[in-house]
Amino acid sequence: MLSYYLKSLTLSLIAGALLGSLFGSIAWGMVLILVGVLGWHYHQLHRLSSWLGRNSDQEVPEGSGLWSKIFDDIYREQKRHRESQAQLKAILKRVQKSTTALKEGVVMLDAQGNLDWWNAAAKRMLGFKRPQDQRQPIINLIRDPNFIRYFRNRSYSTPLELTSPLDQEISLQFTITEFARNDRLLIVRDVTRIHKLEAMRRDFLGNVSHELKTPLTVVQGYLETFLEQRQQLPSPIEKGMDQMLSQAKRMGNLVNDLLMLSRLETGTQVEEETQIDLQQLLTEIRSDAQQLAQRQGKQLEIQLNIEPPGWLIGSEKEVLSALSNLVYNAVRYTPDGGLIELNWWTDQRGGHFAVKDNGIGIDPSHFSRLTERFYRVDYSRSTASGGTGLGLAIVKHVLLRHDAHMDIQSTPGKGSTFSCHFPTRTISSDIQRRQADR
Ligand code: ADP
Repeated sequence: MLSYYLKSLTLSLIAGALLGSLFGSIAWGMVLILVGVLGWHYHQLHRLSSWLGRNSDQEVPEGSGLWSKIFDDIYREQKRHRESQAQLKAILKRVQKSTTALKEGVVMLDAQGNLDWWNAAAKRMLGFKRPQDQRQPIINLIRDPNFIRYFRNRSYSTPLELTSPLDQEISLQFTITEFARNDRLLIVRDVTRIHKLEAMRRDFLGNVSHELKTPLTVVQGYLETFLEQRQQLPSPIEKGMDQMLSQAKRMGNLVNDLLMLSRLETGTQVEEETQIDLQQLLTEIRSDAQQLAQRQGKQLEIQLNIEPPGWLIGSEKEVLSALSNLVYNAVRYTPDGGLIELNWWTDQRGGHFAVKDNGIGIDPSHFSRLTERFYRVDYSRSTASGGTGLGLAIVKHVLLRHDAHMDIQSTPGKGSTFSCHFPTRTISSDIQRRQADR
């Protein structure tokens, strides 16, 4: 194209020179031609500028030579741009329509946590108003301290559940996903129905367990009374009654564990928080564990090592239940002649209690499910040793309520270590001072 243009320019200049020679000045002829060429280009530029200025869908101006190509290229580019804009608009409309139809609330937040955009469900659930709330920080609009903490912590692996800021009867679940550069997408779900069902399940379990307690106590009481005169009973009846008593006791344990679990699940906060003397509590647990081992006809060495002696702040009843469940499990799953070590220690991270046994151990594939209700690695071994399948579920709930957590190490055939880690705030300040002195 450029060579074509240069060629025609050269030809025009030659024609100018010839014309000039006819009138006696070659130079003037060429200047005249150059002025003509420049004037023509200026005219084309003017047409281009007024066409672009109108920026309309009007037909592309007719051009010739280089200008025809320039007009065509710009026109094609504009057309492509208009088409992709229309396409984007259509997609945006569809996205807006589908998010409006969503039952879940969707809120888009910028990197500073200000509201960018929200759908109709978010408006209904959270009461956001346009345009007043546009670009407002979300923590000014949802003021629940739990939400503010959750939002600021930027740890969104688990969703947060709260009552609705507009209606106490409604439970909402908040999920946050980060995208682009620190922008956040907040999804809000109404989980009232699931919450109600959960509450009904808990109440039902609690009520049934409670109702079973009295008849079971009566049955157990009578059986124990009859068995006091076992020498007067015919041998098959005595055997039957022994079995009935042991099953009634098992059922009693199950009912007690179910009641404990239902209490732990229903109450949101630890009741009766006290300073628990660990020396006293663990000595008591060890002595009960020794009796359990004796009843099971086993010789076990149970060592207790508390370093330093101290206190734990929490519910004594709950902590006793959790720690004793771990120790009794060690007794039940360690064969005759085994060794169990109970260790308490503190460090900068808090207080730690570990139960180590050299019993049957657990394959690591079971670890993730051990704290589920009624999950057993070996059902017959668990029931034969008096297990309810609820012990570790209770431990998990108690620890959760004390901001503590558990970890498990185990090798089949070698033994297991169940460790509980309590945060610094749950160990008595006395201990903390001693820790600092060290
Ligand atoms: P259970 O009443 O059956 O003991 P738990 O919830 O206390 O119920 O424990 C769940 C399962 O974990 C048990 O059935 C058992 O298989 C396994 N388990 C728990 N503690 C130990 C342990 N110290 N050694 C080996 N297995 C254990």
